[in-house]
Amino acid sequence: MNWIDIGVNLTNKRFDNDREEVIKNALNAGVKQQIVTGTNLTESENAIQLCEQFPNVLFSTAGCHPHDAERFTEAHYSKLAELVKLSTVVAIGECGLDFNRNFSPANIQLDVFEQQLRLATKVSKPLFLHERDAFDQQLELLSIYRNKIIGGVVHCFTGSKEQLLAYLDLDLYIGITGWICDERRGQRLRDIIHLIPGNRLMIETDAPYLLPRDLWPKPKSNRNIPEYLPHIGRVIAHLRNVPVEQLSEQSYLNSTHFFGL
Ligand SMILES: [Zn+2]
Repeated sequence: MNWIDIGVNLTNKRFDNDREEVIKNALNAGVKQQIVTGTNLTESENAIQLCEQFPNVLFSTAGCHPHDAERFTEAHYSKLAELVKLSTVVAIGECGLDFNRNFSPANIQLDVFEQQLRLATKVSKPLFLHERDAFDQQLELLSIYRNKIIGGVVHCFTGSKEQLLAYLDLDLYIGITGWICDERRGQRLRDIIHLIPGNRLMIETDAPYLLPRDLWPKPKSNRNIPEYLPHIGRVIAHLRNVPVEQLSEQSYLNSTHFFGL
């Protein structure tokens, strides 16, 4: 079975000691490609450099996470507009709104998100979207730009049924992480996972974050790794009552199609 991890923070310092090994172990586990998340300009540049060392295995996004919006300057925008033209960069983001902790002021988040939406209308690359406690404003902006952009994936979706249906109405893809492996906080997501059409579902670890809670034996480290992606796939297949081979094939096809791999 082949898998693609559509969201992995491989430039994170928690991989500094064994990054190459982590990538190889994932390959051995069937994770054929990984999309490295770029969360700000520096991280996006680091991600691109890393991708160049693993051609056809690693690809990246480039963008500005809402937490970093406050530090996103005009010069950053110009540089980002160059980066997204590269063939290793397969999506713009992660971008969006996060009013959960407001690490950047809301008005700046809105402005920086809209800059990236406008950028997406100019280059035909899809959006890698992040949203937390900002659904209404995020949906409003996405609705305005939806017919001018080629597509988007709502990464690490953990929202409600209504929110899921609204995103699907905009014909967006849905990214599911190991959040779903948690029988307590993931229960709402487990209840609605079957509502995602097979051709709109992609999966991701968000490593090193969000270690699946139900791994057995329990890993010694709480660091998540892309090697655990097939585990998340098995849990999703079980909850959707489909063979894991079918889930793997469909999500793999969705991801190669969406990111143009
Ligand atoms: Zn995110």
